[in-house]
Amino acid sequence: MEDDRGRHHAKPKPESKTRLHGRRGPPLARWHDPSSNLPGRGFPGLAILAVAGLLVLLPAALAAEARWWKGNLHTHSLWSDGDDFPESIAAWYKDHGYHFLALSDHNRMLEGEQWVTGSMKNHFPEALEKNRRRFGGDWLVQRTLQGTNQYQLKTLAEFRGLLEQPGRFLMIPSKEITSGHLSFPVHINATNLRRKIPAQGDTNVLDVMQRGVDAVLEQRRQTGQPMFPHINHPNFGWGITAEDLMQVRGERFFEVYNGNPAVHNVGDTVHAGMERMWDIVLARRLGKLDLPPMHGLAVDDFHHYHRHGSDQSNQGRGWVMVRSEQLDAPSLVAALESGDFYGSSGVSLRRLERTGNTMRVEVEAEPGVNYTIRFVGTRRGFDATRSPVMSAKGEPIRATWRYSHRIGETLAVSVGPRARYTARGGELYVRAVVTSSERIANPSRKGETAAAWIQPWQPR
Ligand SMILES: [Zn+2]
Ligand SMILES: [Zn+2]
Repeated sequence: MEDDRGRHHAKPKPESKTRLHGRRGPPLARWHDPSSNLPGRGFPGLAILAVAGLLVLLPAALAAEARWWKGNLHTHSLWSDGDDFPESIAAWYKDHGYHFLALSDHNRMLEGEQWVTGSMKNHFPEALEKNRRRFGGDWLVQRTLQGTNQYQLKTLAEFRGLLEQPGRFLMIPSKEITSGHLSFPVHINATNLRRKIPAQGDTNVLDVMQRGVDAVLEQRRQTGQPMFPHINHPNFGWGITAEDLMQVRGERFFEVYNGNPAVHNVGDTVHAGMERMWDIVLARRLGKLDLPPMHGLAVDDFHHYHRHGSDQSNQGRGWVMVRSEQLDAPSLVAALESGDFYGSSGVSLRRLERTGNTMRVEVEAEPGVNYTIRFVGTRRGFDATRSPVMSAKGEPIRATWRYSHRIGETLAVSVGPRARYTARGGELYVRAVVTSSERIANPSRKGETAAAWIQPWQPR
């Protein structure tokens, strides 16, 4: 382990000469991915080019350079409980440097006919005024019903063409499958979905989750479209424990960071936070359950455009940076599934490489900001003891169990914008988290500082 000033913290092994993945960084594909037989995975090492209506396969080296694309996969609009028009929200993201956006309304795809009445929505006059300024006074269809003004919401098909630009901005169809068991919410986003999937029901949280995941993967098989489910905000309503999450089959994603202040990203004295849950899930899936790793997404879960504050679900708090050659849904899905992305709440990376037995991270450093890069992992043969959390009356509480601190231990820490970790052998996985001294301007939790979450990697 070497920090940015070249100091060694542990004796490194000689670096492998083998570059496993060239310039795209390695996929975490040592594990058999159950979705790898699904359509839309592409052709490793080959790029597809459409020339005069013919599909041509080129060696990847001749194709476009991979680059980072910024996007948000979790957003709400007036189609459900967001407070702005979908096209206005998409315009905000495009104007603020995002390259892709998934509008994921609760149990709604942005299709069919839906009317909104201003009096039923907070801040509707501001939303309407803003929409008219951007899209013109005759853009929205209006009607009067029983003396009330109503406005018809635009479908994704109607407005995406106004905003999408090849290589600049992409809309991805989505929805938040909003289910639950008893009082426990189970919300699953389906990215690049083609047909609506209804809310799911079952007799426990795990089975509700599994049904939602299975439904998305089944639609992927049927349609041939690359799409994926991701588990939203596990700690919202304390709905999903690490024990639930670790057992879901076919699921490769959850939200390690969600910008909604109601979702308890950092947990509390009883409930584990998202990063702790991530390590428990990874250690158990890779070390005990024979299941592939889960990746951690950062998202906005935007609902509130018009009032800002730490009690509001505002835009611009969490996003993903995805490394891909093309800005299209199949390329982004493939890159996300290979773990070639990071989640961010304000930290950008200049370099991210995971080759052979070495991970290198370099931050796009801002002047006057301090960075700490922490490599976190779990080693084979970890202490697997665990116990439930008990109430004052001595009864088990429905919360993530307590596990050994050998799960998710800090393997190395480096102060500064650059760091390298060389595997010592025996790591089940290694992930990296970058924290910074930069205070977030409009945080979901007071005092929050910008961070980045790099996906788990299984060193060779
Ligand atoms: Zn939700
Ligand atoms: Zn949501």
